[in-house]
Amino acid sequence: MSVAKIRLYVEHPLGQGQSVPLSRDQAHYLFGVMRLGLGDQVLLFNGQNGEWRASVAEAGKRGGTLEILEQTAAQRMPPDLWLLFAPIKKARTDFIVEKAAEMGAARICPVQTEFTNAERIRRDRLQSHAVEAAEQCGGTFVPAVCELQRLDRLLADWPDDRQLMFCDEALAGASETLGSAGGSKWAILIGPEGGFSPAERTRLQSLDFAHPVSLGPRILRADTAAVVALTVWQQVLGDWS
Ligand code: SAH
Repeated sequence: MSVAKIRLYVEHPLGQGQSVPLSRDQAHYLFGVMRLGLGDQVLLFNGQNGEWRASVAEAGKRGGTLEILEQTAAQRMPPDLWLLFAPIKKARTDFIVEKAAEMGAARICPVQTEFTNAERIRRDRLQSHAVEAAEQCGGTFVPAVCELQRLDRLLADWPDDRQLMFCDEALAGASETLGSAGGSKWAILIGPEGGFSPAERTRLQSLDFAHPVSLGPRILRADTAAVVALTVWQQVLGDWS
């Protein structure tokens, strides 16, 4: 009998005594791919109710049922951090979403900047990458992936209480850091491979809530920059300490 090693995200309330129906895809994964049978255990989370151990009560080709046994972890929410990034090539965009989910971003927002190449994204595909990353990293939260939005519109409607860590490649090598900036609601902004346009940079520099930051003396690729910025933010203001 398999002891719970598999972690599965489900869109179903989780609690003592609950039974959780499985979708066709989930049944295929658990019984077809992972070869689980009756009585085998999995860990479940739904992004709200923590993590629960459950056992297989019914197993079929097109569905099945899990019975919840006990809670194994409390719900843990990430800091209130959004990652705004300009989508790049598919594999690199997938990487950014996966890393942001692992590193504790609360929301992942692809943004269209002047030099962004991608005109559209597959939000549902990116969302499933975020789910897989949460399943793999032991998290109980799955960040929401937003639809592609224009950066200028997003900045025009910016919430009063949120700070922006503006990662500006023009500052590479400068001593601009997050420093002593406070506040608990933040967003990180990473530009596309082509960088920010002069007009975007001027606008961003004029915004009170935007904090221009350097990520060191070298120009990083956008996917590297996203991971570095998340690391720096988590270390200085996030839930690492
Ligand atoms: N084509 C641009 C580089 C863009 S790098 C140029 O050659 O100047 C992609 C994004 O990563 C940038 O828009 C920025 O948000 C971030 N980035 C990369 N290196 C950085 C650095 N050293 N400091 C701050 N941001 C950086």
